[in-house]
Amino acid sequence: IVAKTNMDEFAMGSSNEHSIFGPVSNPIDARKVSGGSSGGSAVAVASGVIDIALGSDTGGSVRQPAAFCGVYGLKPTYGRISRYGLTAFASSLDQIGIFSRNTNDIVNMFQAIGGHDTHDSNTSKLPLNCDYAKINTNNLTIGYSNHLFNKLNPDMRKPYDSLIDFLKLNNIKVKNIDIDLLDLAIPTYYIIATAEASSNLSRFDGIRYGQKQHGHNVHDLFTKTRSKFFGEEVKRRIMLGTYVLSSGYYDAYYKKALKIRKMITNNLVSVFSDCDLLILPTTPTPAFNKQEKINDSLEMYLSDIFTVPISLAGLPAMSIPIEQVNGLPIGAQLCANYFHENNIFSFSKFIEDKFT
Ligand code: GLN
Repeated sequence: IVAKTNMDEFAMGSSNEHSIFGPVSNPIDARKVSGGSSGGSAVAVASGVIDIALGSDTGGSVRQPAAFCGVYGLKPTYGRISRYGLTAFASSLDQIGIFSRNTNDIVNMFQAIGGHDTHDSNTSKLPLNCDYAKINTNNLTIGYSNHLFNKLNPDMRKPYDSLIDFLKLNNIKVKNIDIDLLDLAIPTYYIIATAEASSNLSRFDGIRYGQKQHGHNVHDLFTKTRSKFFGEEVKRRIMLGTYVLSSGYYDAYYKKALKIRKMITNNLVSVFSDCDLLILPTTPTPAFNKQEKINDSLEMYLSDIFTVPISLAGLPAMSIPIEQVNGLPIGAQLCANYFHENNIFSFSKFIEDKFT
């Protein structure tokens, strides 16, 4: 490991603008954001400084910056890679992800760090599924959703249409599958993720973890410390999370969000009785301008609309670079059923060799 990379504070953000070190610039156009929260990792790989980087992906923080910077970014199945040593943001969603410039490097790294770890009881004991070379892509059925592609503007939609046309031309079985419920994913995610964050971050109080501001008593010390050292976005999330967990609101928000999470999960998992792999956009647009969304949290949160549902379900997904839109990279998100990363890898390699 050669370095630590820049990122949004506590991995909360979609543009790497919530960093004490300042924003990370997009390597293709410095006026644009790198994506986030793992923007530094994505750019370090895209610019060739390093070959492979790690990041954490709670709702898209590896896949989204990978798409914005034109590299590969994997978020494996929840519980596939150990989180020992990772600072927790939203524990039921957090996964370690991998960035690289090709499929092979992702697979090799996955093989090196994936699997059971006695230090993380959430890790699965199932064997790693990465022997992708044995899979014949002609035996895979690839699902996509016109309903979702219709949500994109025409410039953005075109590369996905060409990808599907290319697959048809190559005799790959493709299937249009109606997927809905994604509109519920962002509000559901921002209730569950902030609730878990407010609990996880309570340890940063100046006594157990983190820097300290002195106070007249313990309460004063906590208040001064947390007010001074947490950034604006982190404070916003702690307040939101504390609110949705408070008595009186717990049933109305948190409990309801858990139920909707279950619905989204069931809906997405059922897709895999019709196909082996699902192609989704990674992001609704290419990289946006710095400062463009920083004062509009809702707009910023919506940039994760296609990655967040997969995280809520705990499914594996990888963003792979396809064509460019207005001179900027975009990604296609390949999603498979639990622990079927090998399907993702084999298809990613096929697209890498034949399409791009
Ligand atoms: N952009 C999302 C958020 O701010 C996802 C972050 C992440 O995956 N760490 O919560």
